[in-house]
Amino acid sequence: DKGLEKSSQGFFDKISKAVVGKSKVDDEVLDDLEEVLIASDVGASTTIKIIDRIEKRVARDKFVGTDELDVILREEITGLLLDNPHAQTGNVDDTKKPYVIMVVGVNGVGKTTTIGKLAHQFKSEGKKVVLGAADTFRAAATEQLTIWSERVGVPIVKQNMGSDPASVAFDTVQSAVANNADVVIIDTAGRLHNKVNLMNELSKIKRVMQKVIVDAPHEILLVLDGSTGQNAFEQAKQFTAATEVNALAVTKLDGTAKGGVVIGISEEFQIPVKYIGVGEKMTDLQLFNPAEFVDSFFK
Ligand code: GDP
Repeated sequence: DKGLEKSSQGFFDKISKAVVGKSKVDDEVLDDLEEVLIASDVGASTTIKIIDRIEKRVARDKFVGTDELDVILREEITGLLLDNPHAQTGNVDDTKKPYVIMVVGVNGVGKTTTIGKLAHQFKSEGKKVVLGAADTFRAAATEQLTIWSERVGVPIVKQNMGSDPASVAFDTVQSAVANNADVVIIDTAGRLHNKVNLMNELSKIKRVMQKVIVDAPHEILLVLDGSTGQNAFEQAKQFTAATEVNALAVTKLDGTAKGGVVIGISEEFQIPVKYIGVGEKMTDLQLFNPAEFVDSFFK
């Protein structure tokens, strides 16, 4: 997993430093561990949960050597991710045809790139994909998405800049149904400065789509930049308040030591991380696997 290596850089080193010269996991080691987790952007409430889980084990097993801490931490973090009641596996629900994904997130996080990567992945699985350029606020957004649609070789539905995003979404799902498509991926505008506008825009897009497909969108995928630490937490808070986000894609985990946000955000918002971005290329998207991720985090 070359992509994830940098993401994990530092975490194991920091833990090793915290336990240097100590053989037993005691309160002091747990305090240091807490600091390491916070510094790794796991987030305060998730850090407390992890420390609690380890404290319980220490209390139960009486003596826990610091040489075991690595293994125990991995088990407890993986356990936490797997305990997420919303944890889901697989890619798209094949019983929905088309399966409609609405993609949300602020500009710059890698939303367009993620849509391109997803389109490529679905297409290579033999699925028929349609993209919808419902970020009509920035001309560059539609241009970038068009470039991706050409690169991947999938159709895109778009309108002029400034047109109604909901109207683009409507056209897109209609075209998908007419062409018997398997997956629809709709890009949306990523402006956060006006929360009420964001909420209204997203609900209107949903409402209008539902005129064509009653239970659309099947997935509301929030894209977060994994290198932004606490900003990603803040964005998750705002978008989950604005709409029913039910999946996360965390990008840029190839170039950062901040992979801890993946653990913290999933736990805090009880939303599964579905995809991780590990580079700029079309193929640099992986389905999230908790055990694998935790392993690479510790490397
Ligand atoms: P948008 O404004 O959210 O649509 O962001 P873009 O998709 O245009 O991406 C912003 C920048 O981040 C571009 O330079 C992308 O190539 C880059 N990017 C996106 N995802 C990843 C990733 O997983 N890893 C790296 N290293 N760069 C990424």
